[in-house]
Amino acid sequence: MSRVAVGGFQHETNTFAPSKADYAAFEAGGGWPGVQYGEPLFAAVEGANIPAAGAIGALRAAGHSLVATAWAAASPSAQVTAHAYERIAGELVARLKDALPVDGVYLDLHGAMVVATFDDGEGELLRRVREAVGPRVPIVASLDLHANVTRAMIERADALVAYRTYPHVDMAETGARAARVLDEMMRSGQRPEGGFHSLDYLTGLPSQCSFIEPCRSIYRELEAIEQKEGVTLSFTPGFPMADFAECGMAVFGYGANAKRAVERLHRIVADAEPRFALELHSAPDAVRRARNRGAVGKPVVLADTQDNPGAGGNGDTTGLLRALIEQKAEDAVLGLLIDPASAARAHEAGLNATVNFSLGGKSAIPGDAPLNGEFTVERMGDGRFTCTGPMFKGFRMTLGNMALLRSRVAPGVRVVLASRKCQAADQEMFRTLGVEPRRCRVVALKSSVHFRADFEPIAKEVLVVKAPGPALADPAEFPWKKLRTGVRLHPLGPVHA
Ligand SMILES: [Zn+2]
Repeated sequence: MSRVAVGGFQHETNTFAPSKADYAAFEAGGGWPGVQYGEPLFAAVEGANIPAAGAIGALRAAGHSLVATAWAAASPSAQVTAHAYERIAGELVARLKDALPVDGVYLDLHGAMVVATFDDGEGELLRRVREAVGPRVPIVASLDLHANVTRAMIERADALVAYRTYPHVDMAETGARAARVLDEMMRSGQRPEGGFHSLDYLTGLPSQCSFIEPCRSIYRELEAIEQKEGVTLSFTPGFPMADFAECGMAVFGYGANAKRAVERLHRIVADAEPRFALELHSAPDAVRRARNRGAVGKPVVLADTQDNPGAGGNGDTTGLLRALIEQKAEDAVLGLLIDPASAARAHEAGLNATVNFSLGGKSAIPGDAPLNGEFTVERMGDGRFTCTGPMFKGFRMTLGNMALLRSRVAPGVRVVLASRKCQAADQEMFRTLGVEPRRCRVVALKSSVHFRADFEPIAKEVLVVKAPGPALADPAEFPWKKLRTGVRLHPLGPVHA
């Protein structure tokens, strides 16, 4: 039996997004549990599809005793403030030092954190953790598939293990896999050899989905190589919205044959470049197609990808909603529109009241503005419910005041309002206000890919929509400044000079 310190600090940073992640954002959690210190960490993540939950289960099953340090996550946004970083990382490292001696450290990290005062949030955290435990104690971290893995992260951790699915249905499973790697290291007292190789092109989020090509095949090949070579392999397509030198895709692995396995997988991902191309629809075109093809029982699902709160959007742009209303779509619903002021106004007005709203458009996104009009308040809620879809299963949501509005000029269009940022990736977000997504013809979601886990099974088809928002689907459209030179800004696209 070994003594293992457990902690976590997750943030996915879109450096081009409008709002930073301050300490309050980690207290709120954005759909994840709020910041946790010490023992309560265990109960906070238990039973949810969260990496730390999977790791804790696997470490306990292996008979180890666990010490909780700190765990925190926030909605993706612009940089983590220096204050939030120092407070959370400070607690994590201080509690780790209090817990010494330990035989191993497991960390639940995202891998794409940029701090207001430096670029590599995880590289710095791993440096501090390494400094605290010394060179001999193994440190293993699980990572999101959207990690922008840096050389510093690779050097300071003994192993990094990333998700293999997008939508991330394997978060807890990945935590468990990382825990088994750590367990093996503690038992054998040996460090596996590592291999790492970054790629020189970026890919937009919608084309990184593991349900579709080329990622579906890449992850299949990854598992085949892993088996054949007896290694642990990861492929991270990265988060192409973080302007720093090492942003992008990478392949890495551990084991005696790690270098050879990494080179093989790297070649496969390099060769897949043309197949990462994206098909995007304008909002008016997408709505037109959805109106024609959607049917009650088999809706067309529209992904408002560029305002995805899971990629740094505030979930309040109105481009797609405007197109739904202009074309008077029928049996249509859009969610979640994050607008606490409008949600409060709906609660003040009361059930069945028809009043003027100025919906969304509050993030100063180019090409976006509030949508003004009369809406009827059809339902209200307190934003408390538990998700049931394959990805967010067990997540206990606290989205604040929620309301279901119906447009007066386009009575077939309804909007689900929430007060706290969260990606629309679970049908319970609609059911909590009495909307059954399957009974709609058009379902518009502020999400890039995660929605597919719960919504694709009910969808006639999925269209990815390009409407105003800060999470640009084509990385070549961002004004990159710090990215390393020589990277193609989208598949086969322009080279960053
Ligand atoms: Zn992710």
